[in-house]
Amino acid sequence: MSDTNNGVTDSAVYKTLLESTKAIPWKIDWKTMTFAYIGPQIESLLGWTPQSWVSANDWAERMHPEDRDTVVNFCVSQSQCGIDHEADYRALTKDGGYVWIRDVVHVVRNAEGEVDSLIGFMFDISERKQTEEQLLKLQKQLEEFSYKDGLTGINNRRMFDSMLQIEWANAQRTRKPLSLILLDIDYFKQFNDHYGHIKGDDCLRRVGQALQGAAVRPRDCVARFGGEEFVLVLPETDEASAKQVAERCRKLVRKLRIPHPQSNVAPLLTISLGVGTLVPEQGDAPLAFIEAVDRLLYQAKQQGRDRLQYGHCGGGEVDACQA
Ligand code: GH3
Ligand code: MG
Ligand code: MG
Repeated sequence: MSDTNNGVTDSAVYKTLLESTKAIPWKIDWKTMTFAYIGPQIESLLGWTPQSWVSANDWAERMHPEDRDTVVNFCVSQSQCGIDHEADYRALTKDGGYVWIRDVVHVVRNAEGEVDSLIGFMFDISERKQTEEQLLKLQKQLEEFSYKDGLTGINNRRMFDSMLQIEWANAQRTRKPLSLILLDIDYFKQFNDHYGHIKGDDCLRRVGQALQGAAVRPRDCVARFGGEEFVLVLPETDEASAKQVAERCRKLVRKLRIPHPQSNVAPLLTISLGVGTLVPEQGDAPLAFIEAVDRLLYQAKQQGRDRLQYGHCGGGEVDACQA
């Protein structure tokens, strides 16, 4: 390198520049797989002295075991093909911690076109990774929240709609019976009028949680349908089992022993239920199924509440039959 006017060599200038950036420069000689250079900044970032970076092996060994194979294989194969590349990995610090690094690598070839050396910069990306991880966590939470009912903490209407659609298609394919339970708290308006909305909300929370215990199969779905109405989707469940689950719901709510002095049916909080089963045919629609079960629920109310009304649904018809 030539001298500059004021007597400082170009290489000294470049060295100063390289060693005062946040990015850590390095060079590996391809033939010997040894470090020709690594910036002194590496020591303040990872704790390892520049002299301790001897071979490419030191680089590989100072990497999180979960990242090592993929990153090393990727970098070696890219370098062999002479392709510039970059890789993110967790670098081991001297005191046993890890720092997220982005290594940006340039492959230098000689006059014959063979790989001569690798020149790169290591960037500390731990802050960015942390933000990314936080964002991912938030995104997951958001997804969960969008399927959870804010008041009761159980599945919301959106989840119910999705599950019903999925299970409807499954039932059409497998020809196995699909059951639906729609339930509604008896005289809840009076409950609110008597105790106030805050107690009413608390009651809904308790009922929602209790109903979760009624459905035991992994694919069963309990959701808040809206207001003081709840719904259960029971895949591969025939009439007899659906009735059993409905009866379990009724008993679980009874077991909460929530006083309801204004109820006309009992001194404790009760529910009425509509229960329907069908094997969906081509012409059937989920909405018509819900409507049919809603009519059954209405009948349970008409018959005196605190009971379930069962009906065989399908083909646009509902044959009500009291349990
Ligand atoms: P029935 O036995 O015929 O079902 O009588 P009901 O009084 O329960 O029926 P209705 O549908 O007339 O009233 C439902 C009540 O549920 C009215 C509304 O104030 C209450 N409700 C709906 N959503 C909520 C809620 O999120 N919180 C509270 N506290 N009350 C709610
Ligand atoms: Mg209602
Ligand atoms: Mg009600």
